[in-house]
Amino acid sequence: MRFSEVIGQEKLKSKLIAGVRHGRIPHAQLFLGKSGFGGLPLALAYTQYISCKNPSETDSCGECPSCRKMNTITHPDVHFSFPFPSDKAKKSSELMEEWRNVLTEQPYIHLPDWMLALGAEKKQANFPIAECREIIRSLSLKPFESEYKFLILWLPEFLGNEGNVLLKIIEEPPHNTIFLIVAENEEKILGTILSRTQPVKVPPLLVSELKDYLIKSNNLSDEEATRVAHISHGDFNESQKFATGFESPFFDTWRGWMALCYGRKMGELVAWAESSSQMGKESLKGFLQYGLELLRGVLVTSYSSELNSWGGSEAKFIANMNSIGIPFENLEVMCNEIERSIGLIERNAQPKMVLLDLSFIITRKLKI
Ligand SMILES: [Zn+2]
Repeated sequence: MRFSEVIGQEKLKSKLIAGVRHGRIPHAQLFLGKSGFGGLPLALAYTQYISCKNPSETDSCGECPSCRKMNTITHPDVHFSFPFPSDKAKKSSELMEEWRNVLTEQPYIHLPDWMLALGAEKKQANFPIAECREIIRSLSLKPFESEYKFLILWLPEFLGNEGNVLLKIIEEPPHNTIFLIVAENEEKILGTILSRTQPVKVPPLLVSELKDYLIKSNNLSDEEATRVAHISHGDFNESQKFATGFESPFFDTWRGWMALCYGRKMGELVAWAESSSQMGKESLKGFLQYGLELLRGVLVTSYSSELNSWGGSEAKFIANMNSIGIPFENLEVMCNEIERSIGLIERNAQPKMVLLDLSFIITRKLKI
């Protein structure tokens, strides 16, 4: 991936490029920001720039053998490590084909997409100890083609205490080794890893950067692109949800749940909570986050239907919710409670109880 293919982030690109041109490449850096801001694409473009045989002042050439291998994610000196469910593999290298497919298609990948690609949306992802040992082994090899060898480690938030075996190699890496760690949530990273890496803050995309992309690549009108860019809060992934009009895979489950709450079907709600609690922690959080966004859509469109930025069935759902005339305060309580429930799931509360409580609160608040 070339820098020119990464959306926006011009300031950060210039800083990274200037570092390389002045021979200042820190050996362990932590790219930190939401996946839709572009931490992973930036890490890929940076790696490609450093290993390019013929880089310009602003970008890699895109054509040399190294760039070509970077494009197909087959460069022998670039290693990847990422979380995965333990029943799918023992090491990241066993899932390289899946990783390559996902990454070439969607470099702004976030965890739920990755789990979906593995057919493991209900499972927990982590870095097993065998993976940590594999990282150490692969970095002990000499670079094959490049001056450097790289490790792009995605989502260190999922490194448990097993990650501590990596500390020594991060602190005293083998000669010409570059660690690029790409993370979303600083609070969930082992403190020992944080303290050994140089932070690279990846900020939200500017409205103008996102807007330009949406006009060019999603064929939105100037007006639509401006609106979507504003409500996406600098997050490319958010913008695609609004721009493509494809409904989320969570939509049917969400609509079914709301119908049960609205119809006050208590018995069925208990069964629903039971079956939905099997969804797995990450999916459940994604599901609730999605529902929260839809409800926020209902909130803003209660001011004016013009503000309904969703498309298709989701837009219709929002319009329907609005036509019921749920009081504003009730919608607010529902949003707050969903947010609180996401926090509870995060802290490993029992999903069934959380969903059941939430069902009862929503049922009460939908009564008008
Ligand atoms: Zn090149």
